[in-house]
Amino acid sequence: MRLATITNWAYGATVALTLVSGTTMLLASNAQEHERAAVAQRYALDQATSRLGADVYALTDHARQYLNTGDPADRLIYNRNAAVLASVEERIRHIRDAGASPQELQALKDAIRWADTLHDEQREAIAAFDRGDEALARKLLFGAEYGRELDRVQALIDRFQDRLDRRTETLVNEATEAARLWKTLSEIVLAITGLLFLCVLYFVFKRRVLRPVIKLSDVVNRLAAQDYAAELPNLTQIDEIGDMAEAIGIFRENGLERQRLEAERDADSNIRDLLSRMTQRMQGCDTLADLREVVLRFIPEIEPARAGRLYLLDRKRNTVVEQCSWFEPIHSRPEFSPVACWALRRGLPHRPTGGKIDVPCDHLALEGDAYPDSLCLPLMAQRETLGLLYFEPRGGVAAASPTSEIYLGMLAENISLALANLRLRDTLREMAMVDGLTGLGNRRRLDAVLGDELGLMGQLGATVSCLMIDVDHFKRFNDVFGHKAGDAVLQKVGAVLTGATREPGLAFRYGGEEFLLLLPGLDADLALARAEEIRATINALNISVGGEDLGSVTVSIGVASAPEHCPFARLTLTADAALLHAKARGRNRVEIAARRSGDMTARRQLA
Ligand code: GH3
Ligand code: MG
Ligand code: MG
Repeated sequence: MRLATITNWAYGATVALTLVSGTTMLLASNAQEHERAAVAQRYALDQATSRLGADVYALTDHARQYLNTGDPADRLIYNRNAAVLASVEERIRHIRDAGASPQELQALKDAIRWADTLHDEQREAIAAFDRGDEALARKLLFGAEYGRELDRVQALIDRFQDRLDRRTETLVNEATEAARLWKTLSEIVLAITGLLFLCVLYFVFKRRVLRPVIKLSDVVNRLAAQDYAAELPNLTQIDEIGDMAEAIGIFRENGLERQRLEAERDADSNIRDLLSRMTQRMQGCDTLADLREVVLRFIPEIEPARAGRLYLLDRKRNTVVEQCSWFEPIHSRPEFSPVACWALRRGLPHRPTGGKIDVPCDHLALEGDAYPDSLCLPLMAQRETLGLLYFEPRGGVAAASPTSEIYLGMLAENISLALANLRLRDTLREMAMVDGLTGLGNRRRLDAVLGDELGLMGQLGATVSCLMIDVDHFKRFNDVFGHKAGDAVLQKVGAVLTGATREPGLAFRYGGEEFLLLLPGLDADLALARAEEIRATINALNISVGGEDLGSVTVSIGVASAPEHCPFARLTLTADAALLHAKARGRNRVEIAARRSGDMTARRQLA
């Protein structure tokens, strides 16, 4: 029930009870009035009846006085009083008017009738006395009969008074009882009214004032402690408390908004901090493995709501290949053609869902009937595609806010830059290891190869042969035909060496006009045969520069094989020693290193 209805009912009840209380008070006053009237009536009747008895006795006394004295003055007094007694009928009427009932009046009439009889006897006795018959007169007034009649009159008057007494007493009692009852009732109703009024006052105070004020005070305390989750009571009343609640509500809304903005700013600054640290770490990456580690550490922190993959473009196979993934993405294939992705086709971020009509990428698998809410960010540097950063919603985690896509875009840019740096570094490193003239690996590459997998195999005892090749009298080409011609000779020899092996990466320009060829798995005999083939091929070359024939080119080759001739660590030195031997023995020839047995004469000479 509404508060207004309750208070209206309470006000109505209070007014009704006040009216009832007033009425009962009036009734009580009325009853008291009746009581007073009954008492007054009784007094009046008492007065009238006691006068009647007194008069009868007074007349008897005056008549008897006359008989005793014979004085005419006494007879005069008697006659005057008797004249007054004659108005008794009048008094009865008066008594009737004063409220006596017919029964009571009947009793009084009997008394008066007897009083009249006595009066007749008095007059008869006075007449007898005046006639001189004193004896009769005395008999009449002083006889026993007269005394009895006098007592009867008195008894009748007493009976009338007794009746009157009883009736008026009953009336007075009834009026007193009624007055007391109405008074009590009035007091009770008045007490109920007061109580009801106090209850309503308390109820209204508690409901409208005390309770809202306590709730508001609690909310204010919590808001002061910056606990903006405090729920404001729903107070719609139009008064000062309602105004206060509205003001506190506005204060709370402002606090909530400020808190939200602070949380947003904190999250924002946290993500920016992570992005900045990630960028710094990526700048220090030397290898793709380093980059993978950085990506796997930072991206799940920056975007915890999405799973994803980092793809790189394998140019040779023209395929996008997964490098690493986080939070187990399930929708995108680990390898696909670049044309399968719209982000790679257009060179722009691609997010096909979001309620708009769009084309999903072909590298995505269906999720039921729908495609996942995927996000593909192309990794590009200098308009060249390097790879793809892919995201999809992570199972059981709420979707990321749109703001994070801006950061993911920055993330993709940073990864692109890092990849471009890595590529640049690889290119520089490659350039530093390749001889610009012949395209063969240089000494640095040779050292790297020897310290790498091949070196490990050799140290473990696998067969590796080495050919050390030097162009004979090379200086002459420079001197006679110029440096260009010398360079042309070096390029041709390099090309022959590249073609002489299944692994072109194992042919090196050792320095100047010296070359080196590593032949893993070839023993000394096979290596010797290969060396001879090379020597013959070079010897058969026809090199001309600017239309001028340079004449024949010959090389001397030293062959060594580990572990047959030496330990792997001394392989190049041993081959070099064999080369020196070939030079010493006339050039344009192949010399093989001595066997480990130390039999230096066991060198085989093939040309
Ligand atoms: P030998 O038969 O004893 O090996 O005699 P050689 O002339 O081949 O050897 P030498 O060490 O006397 O001469 C090597 C020359 O190769 C010296 C140097 O000027 C030349 N040379 C070194 N590198 C290059 C190069 O890149 N281009 C050209 N054109 N000449 C080079
Ligand atoms: Mg030389
Ligand atoms: Mg030489």
